[in-house]
Amino acid sequence: MVDKVRGLLVGRLQPIHDGHMDVISRILAEVDEVIIGIGSAQLSHTLKDPFTAGERTMMINKALSENGIHPSRYYITPIQDVARNSLWVAQVKMLTPPFEIIYSGNPLVQRLFIEAGHKVSTPPLFNREVYSGTEVRRRMLEDGDWKSLLPPQVVDVIEEIDGINRIKHLSQKEM
Ligand code: ATP
Ligand code: MG
Repeated sequence: MVDKVRGLLVGRLQPIHDGHMDVISRILAEVDEVIIGIGSAQLSHTLKDPFTAGERTMMINKALSENGIHPSRYYITPIQDVARNSLWVAQVKMLTPPFEIIYSGNPLVQRLFIEAGHKVSTPPLFNREVYSGTEVRRRMLEDGDWKSLLPPQVVDVIEEIDGINRIKHLSQKEM
């Protein structure tokens, strides 16, 4: 049996959006299996990181499996932050299946993996002006059109967990 080539994509995925979907498709055109690392997994219930790792796992799993990506081709792994950047690569490698290539546009992530001797690839950004988590969350707060930026399965999960009311509630001032 020939060994599988695996690629890793790490993001907070707050939430997964169509930009991530585009990059995941590109990665799967290059490697056999993709590992989705859910970064800052310990964070939730803040405006920047509203969803738990469990909720994000559900969003990612439904978005991939119900958009033609067979579950045998991906892994989803929550990754908690560590207080020391120099130890983060070891933390990632402890938690994920073995991988050949790390895909990231984030300079810190790139640097840490290069110094650890890994192959880093920078995927092209897909319509970044709108396909960013920051823009999705801004639209959620301001009653804008956030749904068109996400796979429909992710919209369903956000509605199931009452996500928009969570974000709006968190944005209120204490009275
Ligand atoms: P936030 O605004 O919350 O930081 P984000 O859209 O940058 O959200 P992250 O979870 O930080 O999402 O993304 C992690 C990785 O996903 C990025 O380093 C980048 O490689 C990829 N990515 C994000 N947006 C896009 C996009 N529009 N097209 C392609 N790749 C993207
Ligand atoms: Mg980002």
